[in-house]
Amino acid sequence: MDYDVIVAGGGPVGCSAARDIAGQGYRVLVLEEHKKIGEPVQCSGLVSERTFEISRVSDQVILNTLKGAVVYAPNKNVLDLQGDKVYALVVDRGAFDRDLAGQAAAAGAKIYHGKKLISFDCLTDRLIVNTTSGEEKGCAFTCKLLIGADGYNSAVARHLNLPAAQEKVSLFAAEVSLPGFGGQIAHIFLDRLLAPGWFGWLMPVKKNLARVGIGCSPLMNSDWRESPRSLFEKMAAKHPIFKGLEVLKTTGGIVPIDYLERTYDTRVLLAGDAASQVKPISGGGLFLGLKGASFCAATAVKALRENDFSRSFLKAYQNAWDEDFGLEIKCGLKHREIFLDMDNREIEFLIGFLNKPYWRNTILKYGDLDYHSWLAAKLSLAQPWANRFLGSGLKILLRGLKHTVENS
Ligand SMILES: Cc1cc2nc3c(=O)[nH]c(=O)nc-3n(C[C@H](O)[C@H](O)[C@H](O)COP(=O)(O)OP(=O)(O)OC[C@H]3O[C@@H](n4cnc5c(N)ncnc54)[C@H](O)[C@@H]3O)c2cc1C
Repeated sequence: MDYDVIVAGGGPVGCSAARDIAGQGYRVLVLEEHKKIGEPVQCSGLVSERTFEISRVSDQVILNTLKGAVVYAPNKNVLDLQGDKVYALVVDRGAFDRDLAGQAAAAGAKIYHGKKLISFDCLTDRLIVNTTSGEEKGCAFTCKLLIGADGYNSAVARHLNLPAAQEKVSLFAAEVSLPGFGGQIAHIFLDRLLAPGWFGWLMPVKKNLARVGIGCSPLMNSDWRESPRSLFEKMAAKHPIFKGLEVLKTTGGIVPIDYLERTYDTRVLLAGDAASQVKPISGGGLFLGLKGASFCAATAVKALRENDFSRSFLKAYQNAWDEDFGLEIKCGLKHREIFLDMDNREIEFLIGFLNKPYWRNTILKYGDLDYHSWLAAKLSLAQPWANRFLGSGLKILLRGLKHTVENS
């Protein structure tokens, strides 16, 4: 019952951190509240080849490769970005998670299914972690260090009152049969009314089988009443590409969007969605989450070696991930702010503007599923986007001036 490290959450991030720490010879326990790893699936399974490589998952879980996208503006403009190279892989997300859990177990980590962390107590030399498992009476485990990889609604973070993401985007997604649809191109739908503050997507898995989804942000409409599912139905009714669609399996969930200033505390580290290690533009969390897991494991191993679990020692984790991808998140948040400020007319104009060989080639050349800032830097030169930057820069300046005047 006594461990060096307990990981709350048997998702991809928790399992990959557990694998790396157990691989160094430490006693690691993963607590997963569900009975089976990888279920229920709350993901569309789109990852880059880079993400796939760092996951070390077997390529048997790859279902398709995507070579571009078609972006639909709200009305008539369409941006066709079909390329030659592979930009993304579509994976079986349940199998992906189970492979990572297998890697953690092979490295020596113990995985308890159906055990939910409910609270923990800090003693001077360790933590006591309390769990429940369905109807059964819970049990307690002790550890030197606790990792919260328990998703966007992290019980570990809540227990410590650590900051949580300010923006939580609600998504509805489904696996669907779509007669005649297939190939290797994703479809993205931009429309303020259909997907307020987010976008809709459709991606082929194989012939006649696809994944679709849509999201909406609470920031866009605080009085907004429509569920993501009803938005999804509207999107399917509006675009002819969805003709004949039949929903096979539905899913959904929340994507946390923010930069969190503190993802550590005495004897505690947060990683993955629990730490909002998510790309603000797309909501993809596997790349940054797996990278976060690796920094988290490295700090955990150092703390165990030096027997130092103080808040000041564990700050090294925040510094490490921040140095690697903190700026990428901050840059994504900035571009997201501009995107949120655009109305349908501006989106229509932007898509029309970019629909020229120069911009299409630029997007195809610099577009990267993981590093949106590479393309964003290039697009900053596109006039509509550049005007927006100037506008939002001025707004920030004016806001700052107002604040100075009010406080002087
Ligand atoms: C609809 C949808 C589509 C998405 N599509 C993509 C995509 O295509 N590509 C991409 O990169 N990202 C996508 N994401 C985001 C991605 O799914 C997450 O970023 C990723 O799963 C984060 O991994 P994680 O391990 O941090 O958290 P999770 O995958 O959420 O895992 C957390 C685990 O902790 C468990 N848990 C929670 N609380 C407790 C507790 N108290 N005790 C014990 N266990 C607990 C949960 O059961 C879960 O297994 C999508 C998200 C949604 C909602």
